[in-house]
Amino acid sequence: MSAVRLDTPVKFLKGIGERRAEALERLGIRTAQDLLWHLPRRYIDASSVTPLARAEVGLEVACVGRVVAKGVLPTRRGLRIFHAVLRDESGVLECVWPGQAFLDRTIAVGQTLLVSGPVRFYHGRQMAPREYIILSDAEGDADPLSAGKVLPVYPATEGLSHKIVRGLIERHLDDLIPLAHDLLPPAHREALGLPTLRDALVAVHRPTSAAVAEEGRRRLAFDELLDLQLTLTRARDLAKRQRSGVAFVARHDLTDRLAAALPWTLTGDQQRALEAITTDMTAPERMHRLLMGDVGTGKTVVALFAMLLALENDYQAALMAPTELLAEQHAATLERLLEPLGIRPQLLLGRQGAAEKKAARKAIASGAARLTVGTHALVQESTAFQRLGLVVIDEQHRFGVEQRAALVGKGSAPDVLLLTATPIPRSLALTLYGDLDVSTLRERPPGRGVIRTAVRTEAQRTRVLTFVEEEAAQGRQSYVVLPVIEESERADLRAATTMSEQLAARWPALEVGLIHGRLKPAERDAVMERFRSGGIQVLVATTVIEVGIDVPNATTMVIEHPERFGLAQLHQLRGRVGRGAGNSYCVLMAGDSVPERLRAFAATDDGFRIAELDLEERGMGDLIGARQSGGFEVRHARLPGDEALLARARELAGRIITADPALQRPENQRLRERALSRFPRAAELFRIG
Ligand code: ADP
Ligand code: MG
Repeated sequence: MSAVRLDTPVKFLKGIGERRAEALERLGIRTAQDLLWHLPRRYIDASSVTPLARAEVGLEVACVGRVVAKGVLPTRRGLRIFHAVLRDESGVLECVWPGQAFLDRTIAVGQTLLVSGPVRFYHGRQMAPREYIILSDAEGDADPLSAGKVLPVYPATEGLSHKIVRGLIERHLDDLIPLAHDLLPPAHREALGLPTLRDALVAVHRPTSAAVAEEGRRRLAFDELLDLQLTLTRARDLAKRQRSGVAFVARHDLTDRLAAALPWTLTGDQQRALEAITTDMTAPERMHRLLMGDVGTGKTVVALFAMLLALENDYQAALMAPTELLAEQHAATLERLLEPLGIRPQLLLGRQGAAEKKAARKAIASGAARLTVGTHALVQESTAFQRLGLVVIDEQHRFGVEQRAALVGKGSAPDVLLLTATPIPRSLALTLYGDLDVSTLRERPPGRGVIRTAVRTEAQRTRVLTFVEEEAAQGRQSYVVLPVIEESERADLRAATTMSEQLAARWPALEVGLIHGRLKPAERDAVMERFRSGGIQVLVATTVIEVGIDVPNATTMVIEHPERFGLAQLHQLRGRVGRGAGNSYCVLMAGDSVPERLRAFAATDDGFRIAELDLEERGMGDLIGARQSGGFEVRHARLPGDEALLARARELAGRIITADPALQRPENQRLRERALSRFPRAAELFRIG
């Protein structure tokens, strides 16, 4: 085999065949470089582990022990419990996993396990682990925590345990690290007090202490933040130089007719947002405004007024949504609202037939389609607009930066309105968007019921199901949301297919539907239509219903495994109920005990508060853009936490991008090239502006 390079696909590395390569791909690891940058999600050392004998009732602890006995026990309620007894030098502890009998196939006597979770009293001390990691398989294996070692715990996936991932990385580390090319000039690096790239990689993968690992992480975080800031700074710089756009004229033609046709009046917040948008759009500078507001605060209508203002001026408007369901929902809503005005929105989706798509593109190119709603199909090369004056991007954070830029690039200098139901804390918005203007909708349109959120444990499941059944008896509908489609995806999670079968068996008189992303679009439409029309009373779903569904008669949502969802995502899901006049209910099924994060979530309905909690919990990665979209990856930086690094990255990026003479310096040139190479399509973004 030829020498390994950083871009070598992992399947060519020793010890990784096709099958493991596939599993690694699920972790986002395709090349040797991805493997080298696959960082531990945490570290365990002996000092963070509690001896089994000291795992006291009421504590939340992490313990390490060897499995000395195990088995599956049935309970009176028919739930099968997997249990295992762990032993260490201090004593023994029983661990139980209710409803997870399948663990019997994974966990074996003789293995050393790390378990963490709450300890409670039930015929004796017992832990219900939230997490377990198989540290070693058999008696003979060395104890990875012995003699002051710090154990990296890597993100793992089905079919690829922490232990295997750790083994693969350990095996290739010495070959790969010398290949890492440090692009940060030494003078900059020293001024920042950061280690070299190679030292940082050694530090994160083979730390001698948690503090050393953290220093390594900070270096990698800085690289990411610098890449991000270089790209954003450059984009902003170009945008500033090219600020002139269309100066629309408020003709009060279509907009007034819409206002007259609406059966209600705008809320105060909607009016204020619309005034700001109108001011922006009628000014000669380009609009670049973010409209933030919780689900149901009425962003779509505000966006529609903006689009009509463009149409009044003989410009086209385009609305891009992240999923086909949401795009269709928008198209249907707009069609209804626009009917009195005699305007029909044009729909463009990836999954439309070739002929249909061709016709849509023709209408868009000729200008016959004045208002277009679509998915990312809108940014494909084959889509050209005749005269695009306004771009509206819904759920903007779900698109990569360059996807948004690509749509903007379809017009000559269109105004841009970004919508988000995931409010971003102000500090982060400034960091990411700089001079973006922000309008906020906090007020909810009147006439809506409230959503009550409850957290329930496994012991209360029957009562929850009875509640759903009673709602159905009253003619109301429910969602049951699960994180996975099939059990085989994640053996330890309840899955949508199984759940729908169980519920259908339990309620022969009710119609139980099933919807998930793997259904064919036509099947999915059919299920949705039946739910909308009331033919289905209980809809079992994955997160495909996160956005795009507006069924006012659906009043209850049960969410299984809420621990698998981010808080912002839970909030989005919850927003699918409460769309009608009556009260609605959101029930989170929390397993055995109620974690604090869910308690905090249930206590507030304020999207802004939840955004803050979410940011604390998850860091900024997801807020910046989806990884799959080829957008920015921020995996190692943490906000809150790394503000100081971010500020330095921003300052350095600013100097590199804007100080023209300095751009000639070779070291800075390398940095720019690196930003471009890490984000190939950033080059396109740079051309937009
Ligand atoms: P968002 O996009 O912010 O989730 P929508 O624009 O979909 O919210 O609005 C939610 C619902 O509220 C829609 O059915 C919409 O027709 C309705 N709506 C919007 N604005 C008002 C208002 N001012 N008064 C009453 N109902 C409104
Ligand atoms: Mg919306």
